[in-house]
Amino acid sequence: MKAIAIVGKKKTGKTTLGLALAKNFADKGMKVGIIKHSHHGFDEAEGTDTQKYKKVASCVAAYSPTQSFISWNKEKPLQDLLPLLEADVIIMEGGNKLGWMPRIITVREDADDKEFFPELALAQIPACTNDNPPSAEEVERLAGLVMEKGFLLPGLNCGACGREFCRDFAADINAGKATRDGCKATSGKMDVTSNGMPLALNPFVSDILSAGISAMLGQLKGYTPGDLNITIKTDR
Ligand code: SF4
Repeated sequence: MKAIAIVGKKKTGKTTLGLALAKNFADKGMKVGIIKHSHHGFDEAEGTDTQKYKKVASCVAAYSPTQSFISWNKEKPLQDLLPLLEADVIIMEGGNKLGWMPRIITVREDADDKEFFPELALAQIPACTNDNPPSAEEVERLAGLVMEKGFLLPGLNCGACGREFCRDFAADINAGKATRDGCKATSGKMDVTSNGMPLALNPFVSDILSAGISAMLGQLKGYTPGDLNITIKTDR
């Protein structure tokens, strides 16, 4: 899974760049997932059926032959949303403080990046607009960087890698002092995926679960020590 955040001040072209990158990846046959973070909610046309339901319901799901979506009337943890995205590459617009993935910072001036954690940046680019978008060559360069260096950490902030926050580990990956495999929450004895998306497991929980499941399955006829694969089909 490749992932990149696009952060920067208002009106510095984050959406312009996000769209250009998404198109670049889609043209190459990749499935692109977009995550957008906003402190102020999202615009939605007044008076639509969906909006009327959302005023009284805690969540609304809709599906049709051409699109499906679900909307909650509260902030959901990103970990709950990621397994719903069927994507080869994730582009997140906003989420400056998150720090689970590297980022591209859109800046107006050289010293404009300090609040955007430049230690997490794969690149900083000048602010752009729909009328003045980044060139095709620049988009291709940035897409190449994402494919080479993009990653996603689980965001548990569990400290098992020796850093207090995932953001510190992400900065070390960026600086070449660590690799993604060093995240202990996704490199323990047990891997769990939800719809193909790896889920983070605290190393302690991973050890307990893997020991318990191995001990139970060890009682079954035909069990031989080695890697175990279990797929659980849940109701949809
Ligand atoms: S081990 Fe992984 S999940 Fe835990 S703090 Fe380090 S990077 Fe984050």
